Amino acid sequence: MAVKDYYKILGVPEKATPAEIKKKYLKLVRKYHPDKNPGDKQAEEKFKEINEAHDVISNPEKRKKYDMIRQYGSQFNFGGSAPGGSGGMSYEDILKNFSAGKRRKSYKNTGGSFQDIFSQFFDLGDFSSSQTHAPQRGKNILSSITIPFETAIKGGNQFLKLETESICEQCNGSGAEPGSKKNSCSQCQGRGTISVNQGPFATSYVCPACQGKGEIIETPCKKCNGAGKLVTLKTIKVKIPRGIENNSKIRLKGKGALGINNGPPGDLIIRIFVQPHSTFKRNGLNLEVEISITLVNALLGTEINVPTMDGRIKMKIPSGTQPNSKLRIKGKGVPSQGKRGDLIIKVLVKFPKKLTEEQKELIKKLKETGL
Ligand SMILES: [Zn+2]
Ligand SMILES: [Zn+2]
Repeated sequence: MAVKDYYKILGVPEKATPAEIKKKYLKLVRKYHPDKNPGDKQAEEKFKEINEAHDVISNPEKRKKYDMIRQYGSQFNFGGSAPGGSGGMSYEDILKNFSAGKRRKSYKNTGGSFQDIFSQFFDLGDFSSSQTHAPQRGKNILSSITIPFETAIKGGNQFLKLETESICEQCNGSGAEPGSKKNSCSQCQGRGTISVNQGPFATSYVCPACQGKGEIIETPCKKCNGAGKLVTLKTIKVKIPRGIENNSKIRLKGKGALGINNGPPGDLIIRIFVQPHSTFKRNGLNLEVEISITLVNALLGTEINVPTMDGRIKMKIPSGTQPNSKLRIKGKGVPSQGKRGDLIIKVLVKFPKKLTEEQKELIKKLKETGL
């Protein structure tokens, strides 16, 4: 199931600024307003869709989540954006789907990774318990880096720039300006949760007024605006193990979002994409390379310089080597867990396209020998 493409609906690029979005939105609203198109069902639908798109894209928090759905959603069977712009699931549908899955604790098609990745984007409250004062583990953060082919083979350090949370040192994470008061939340009577009766079930959700803290800060900390934490751009060193495969994940324990109510931090999960190499192709633990030799060298045998990840090495090509035959150099492949794959050399034989008269004469003589 695809997600509606709100950017396409609004006709703005994904990187559009709030000002650009607003300008485009106002233009579209004027064009499709029901007052201007009385009785036009299509215009009415379009008008609704524009407003739906604008509601999400103009809200920084919703836009961030929506972008995440577009980026990672396809991995969980409800992502990617609809090619035509409209049609598909709306942002609200996705949220409903997610909270329903969370309530049942058995969202199909997803397994654990769905919870892992999406829990961090959606603060829907905890439907299963009302222990909002209890310490909660911080959310996991998903990121990705693209690394050079050589680093994937040999291992090494890569640096990832990431906006991460840290505790505000001014208020020590409380969110209150030092010396100021905190009052009990009037919305939830200090409980941090609000209960709702829905048919036979009583469910409780996190109080939106105090975000489950049960108290309201009188004077928010000036440094963090009462959040208790600050988002800063950090450079994180990621150790890449030798032989890592494309599209694999590295988990950095405790490098995710801060915990709630002194809970432990979440993890940082980094997806690793490996750049392709111009010479080598990876196939499991083996590396493959193609080498061209002339027809005469294939017939008589020769010595070639083979590129390996550790530099060039000389190799004998036996006389009578067939086109597309594969030769193997043991132990020059991908290292992984004490083992190392091989380098497979595919030998291409170049046949001459044109021959001189003299060459033709010589080949005729060869033919006479029965070759
Ligand atoms: Zn602070
Ligand atoms: Zn409250």
